[in-house]
Amino acid sequence: MASGARLVILGKQGAGKGTQSVRLSHYLAVPHISTGDMLRAAVKAGTEFGQLAKSYMDSGELIPDDVIMGIVEDRLAEPDASRGFLLDGFPRTAIQAEALDEMIKPHLIDLAIDLDVPTELVLKRLSSRRVCQTCGANYSLEAPPKLNWTCDLCGGEVVQRPDDTEVAIRRRLDLYDKATAPLIEFYSQRNLLVSVDGVGTPDEVMERLVAVVNKARYSRSAQ
Ligand code: AMP
Repeated sequence: MASGARLVILGKQGAGKGTQSVRLSHYLAVPHISTGDMLRAAVKAGTEFGQLAKSYMDSGELIPDDVIMGIVEDRLAEPDASRGFLLDGFPRTAIQAEALDEMIKPHLIDLAIDLDVPTELVLKRLSSRRVCQTCGANYSLEAPPKLNWTCDLCGGEVVQRPDDTEVAIRRRLDLYDKATAPLIEFYSQRNLLVSVDGVGTPDEVMERLVAVVNKARYSRSAQ
């Protein structure tokens, strides 16, 4: 990989993409661009778009491709993304993946990481997941904040995500299989895919991610 890195992280909801992307983006010094976080910020801001987005998100449906593609294109045009980025939650459909290629032309992404976690485990993780309403930090019933569902980082209220209900979780996993899992093949055919075992402690998974990213960096720079 050249300076910076253009990375995409794939994986089912609950695979740990959010947690690991924050850490990996710090490690690589590139912005973490999470479409889910951007949409939740719009919902919180109460804009007209935010209200529309909320209706899709709460039921586990995907925002229409052209809408989300416009948002990502604008974000990638910001100066901090010129040296690289870590995309989390985008692309989620084949149309979005093709649009991403167009957006970053003449470059390609350096690597698509499939963070692999079995469905039974993500179901368990999603139903116990709790998030800070203010900063988005992740917690769980097993690993709650230190004080009374108040975020350790910013003091915000820690709650269950409205799309972490059983019905919405099932719909999101179903959409993942139908719309997003084919991207594994898309990137694999382009020789850009690497699969990382997402089962383990956050530190263990991060170590694996750093190893595959550094391996890809080394092999690209040796070419
Ligand atoms: P996430 O936090 O990535 O699980 O995203 C939460 C919700 O935001 C998803 O269930 C979708 O409703 C919406 N969303 C996020 N990213 C996308 C995307 N790339 N395409 C369509 N909808 C998206």
